[in-house]
Amino acid sequence: MADAAPDREPWNKRIREKIAHPAQLDGMRAAFKTTLDRQEENLPRLPNLEERRKRAKEAREVGVRDGRLLSQAIERLRANKIRVLGPFSKNEAQEAILSEIGLERLVVKSKSNVTKELELAKFLGGKGVRVIETDAGDRIIQLAGLKQAHPTGPAVDLTRYDVAKIMSKYLGREVDPDPDSLTQVIREDVRQFIEEAGVGITGANFIAAEEGAAIILHNEGNAAECARRPIKHIIVASTDKVVADLEEAMNLVKLQAYYATGKLVTQYINIISGPSMTADIEKKTFYGMHGPKEVVLVLVDNNRSRVLDRTILECINCGSCLLRCPVYDAVGKDFGGPAYLGGRGAAFTAYIDDAPTAVSSGLTLCTNCGLCTEMCPVRLDVPSHVRQARRLAAGSGLLPTPEQKALVKSVRNYHNPWMQPRQAKGRWAEGLRLPAKGDVLFFAGCSPALLHPEMPRAVVEVLRSAGLEVAYLGKEEVCCGSTLQKIGEEEQFLRTAEESAKLIRASGAKRIVTSCPGCYRTLKEYHRYLDGFEVEVEHASQTLVRLLDEGRLRFKGVKAEVTYHDPCELGRLGGVIEEPRKVLESIPGLVLREMQESKARSQCCGSGGGVKTAHPDLATSIGARRIAAAQGTGAKALVTSCPWCLTNLRDSCKSSGSDIEIWDLIVLAKRSLSG
Ligand code: SF4
Ligand code: SF4
Repeated sequence: MADAAPDREPWNKRIREKIAHPAQLDGMRAAFKTTLDRQEENLPRLPNLEERRKRAKEAREVGVRDGRLLSQAIERLRANKIRVLGPFSKNEAQEAILSEIGLERLVVKSKSNVTKELELAKFLGGKGVRVIETDAGDRIIQLAGLKQAHPTGPAVDLTRYDVAKIMSKYLGREVDPDPDSLTQVIREDVRQFIEEAGVGITGANFIAAEEGAAIILHNEGNAAECARRPIKHIIVASTDKVVADLEEAMNLVKLQAYYATGKLVTQYINIISGPSMTADIEKKTFYGMHGPKEVVLVLVDNNRSRVLDRTILECINCGSCLLRCPVYDAVGKDFGGPAYLGGRGAAFTAYIDDAPTAVSSGLTLCTNCGLCTEMCPVRLDVPSHVRQARRLAAGSGLLPTPEQKALVKSVRNYHNPWMQPRQAKGRWAEGLRLPAKGDVLFFAGCSPALLHPEMPRAVVEVLRSAGLEVAYLGKEEVCCGSTLQKIGEEEQFLRTAEESAKLIRASGAKRIVTSCPGCYRTLKEYHRYLDGFEVEVEHASQTLVRLLDEGRLRFKGVKAEVTYHDPCELGRLGGVIEEPRKVLESIPGLVLREMQESKARSQCCGSGGGVKTAHPDLATSIGARRIAAAQGTGAKALVTSCPWCLTNLRDSCKSSGSDIEIWDLIVLAKRSLSG
């Protein structure tokens, strides 16, 4: 049975254990695939999805930034006879809920992430209040003492046999491992508690400020029972749940259902705007007719008000970002904070808890690939928050990891992360007679120059064959700083970027050409940190396409069937998707076979974000999945255009025993000059 790993065990040991027992995550992977397939199937029924995402993003932006909306919501909720308490810190919220429970000793509760954040069941249990989770998945993990694996499918990583074992142990009798009977057993178990409990606790997916209403989504009907049957209903919600009105909430409801489960709507949508009431006799108001007499809303701030980059609060907790996250696929629910999962969870933990908890939640595992952003209804920039959280951890001396520290020291001393003397950097260019100044500067990058010298050489030779001469800084070229920024070393990044920019400016370059996607994206962003840095930056594949279009470049031919792996930094994040394909298509004899996950949705190779350095086994385990996908196309070679992908995919071939060849795009282009 998949069990929660001990929190403080070193990550690389935990990763090796996960890799050694891949079947442990099969249940989760199968469940995620079902959701992805359903998303795909229902996509045509959401023709205006992009419009909805845009609207949702705007609604969430206002909700988390505009304090007036929260004030309006509180005022309207109170006018609707909902008692609003808070906003509170974690301890205050726990105490307030305990006080609201009063003398009751049994509480039924429906799914709510914020109550997990508050560790509410544990806290109330310590005070003699029995809390029964009523959602089937939550009840299973409650009984087994496990961590949830998905915000809306907490037990997706467990098999029917795991569940049967848990229920048999709890009930003290053998329970049949048949999903129907198991569901029946859980239903009967929670039913009795729902009948008995005097207090029901639920979360709220959204709070509509204009109407003063809480919106609760669920499939099992249990949240409605928790909200309706007991005499008192306590809603626990974080302050970031507020949206302008019910119209905005309904758009989010639709997206929440689609992104969490692939469905277009959940089975139940409860809108609660006050206690149960009637005024049918002489218009005299009577509360507690068929539902609770009292509804209390406990607002939780728990350090949200001190979060500077508010975008992280726009999350609607659908869990879609986990479905294709390469790290989650490799290590499962260990990746993420105690209450919130994946990269977003690890980063959020740094904001609301502390940096040590974030590091033990896997803050260093994220490859910064951006697939989560692609999968997210509100396009949350998770990689940027991971980098911000890493900066916080670096500020507390917790990061970088020991392996990454050597890299940082090397950049400081040698201007490259590979602990190579500075003069080694220009060796690949020996004999090419490249000038140090010129309009077009070739930025070789540390990894191509020192680990794959055939890459920069191929760029220069292909460009030269088209009549384009480039300048090169030689051994003076300074690291662009890309990896420093990814691992949270912001100060060293800025110093390095300044040095690098000074040399680029002195070269007189108006345009930079590079074949490294990390350098490409980082140099393109220099203008954000360095005043007046206005040099145009191009990836070598873009330059080649221009030369092909101008008729200055022609390939003879290479007979091969290949597939193309989009490096995350170049494709999804850098927007250079079609150009490498155009280069491949212009090589006579070459057949391109696309992998299913390609272009903006390309799967990560596993090496980015400092992961190759800090967690090499994780990097190759993720890479092996990409290799398997490439082999599935029947191609004989995988072509890519990034030195990190090249290294990691070659390592992954070795570790997985694959014989597919890994080629660099421009090196292939160079080969095809001569046919
Ligand atoms: S950036 Fe990639 S590795 Fe990091 S959390 Fe997002 S999907 Fe996962
Ligand atoms: S970050 Fe986006 S995809 Fe992930 S849970 Fe939040 S809203 Fe959903």
